[in-house]
Amino acid sequence: MQRVFNFAAGPAALPESVLQSAAAEMLNYGQTGMSVMEMSHRSSDFERIIEEAEADLRQLTNMPDDYEVLFLQGGGSLQFAMIPINLMKNGKADYIHTGSWTKKAIEEARRYGDVKVLASSEDGNFSYIPDCSDLPVREDADYVYICENNTIFGTKYCELPYTKGKPLVADLSSCMLSEPLDISRYGLIFAGAQKNLGPAGVTLVIIRKDLISDELPVFAPTMLSYKTHAKAGSLYNTPPCYNIYMLGKVLRWIGELGGLEAMKVRNLEKARLLYDFLDGSSLFKGTVRKRDRSLMNVTFVTGNADMDKKFSAYAEARGLVNLKGHRSVGGMRASIYNAMPIEGVKALVSCLEDFERENG
Ligand SMILES: *Cc1c(COP(=O)(O)O)cnc(C)c1O
Repeated sequence: MQRVFNFAAGPAALPESVLQSAAAEMLNYGQTGMSVMEMSHRSSDFERIIEEAEADLRQLTNMPDDYEVLFLQGGGSLQFAMIPINLMKNGKADYIHTGSWTKKAIEEARRYGDVKVLASSEDGNFSYIPDCSDLPVREDADYVYICENNTIFGTKYCELPYTKGKPLVADLSSCMLSEPLDISRYGLIFAGAQKNLGPAGVTLVIIRKDLISDELPVFAPTMLSYKTHAKAGSLYNTPPCYNIYMLGKVLRWIGELGGLEAMKVRNLEKARLLYDFLDGSSLFKGTVRKRDRSLMNVTFVTGNADMDKKFSAYAEARGLVNLKGHRSVGGMRASIYNAMPIEGVKALVSCLEDFERENG
């Protein structure tokens, strides 16, 4: 069986060289005589793995020293709770609503405090990003929350919101390290690894040190305090060791390809190929306002659910898999994260062209 081009939204394709390198080290990592899966998280070998991953991340992102890097568990979804539990000092937070993932984040935050929705694109089925240049941010809001790339709806902020001095908290689960970013503009960034960073099971959190609270509400478990993990260098308890090792390999792969500038060039080229096709197509069309289009998740439809289904099956027969759109949007979604090679996107465009010729 040949490997396919996997357009899944997450867990998603990993760089082939990363998988090969992990396979080569599976039974014997370095000179240890054991797999990384069998290794103590307190061993010097594992310490080197986690320290190198953090150092590579800091270097790739040019991270300022006043930020802490945490490797946590619980996925992006646990951050929906950890963020309000740790960051709500006044019990108030302001959210921008751009789709399913902010809906969940808002609902979760409402369990812990007073949440105001500053702007929403729900009126357009989340096909655009609302204007965030002059938001009614509350004087005493503890933070402003966004989902920077909306995995399901295929939108992305082309400009960060103006938060009037409040810390910006951002869910970068599906766009982290797809292009250069200015960490100093954020108070907290988080990303589940399974989209762009590695296998599912580790969640990356980057937090400005002054936002790490000493005191949490009494109900909050020790494990849900950022302080617990910051103090212990993400080794308070057993971390997801193998996932951190894989994430480290992905970071090294990004570095070898030229870092985040190179990722951006590569991702722009891939996205342009696909969007240019969609803009010229008589059968398929993109679902998102042009300026807000994601580089990572490209959503499109024919306008006919049966035709959409027929296309997904047609593509699958050519080894282009997981193109079915999320159930809440329908149509198709091609997730073209860092690891998707340009050959995969070219194969998809050819497939779209052929299908259009045969069915247009
Ligand atoms: C996938 C995803 C999540 C949820 O991640 P889990 O790790 O499954 O909890 C949250 N936000 C965004 C933007 C995502 O794409």
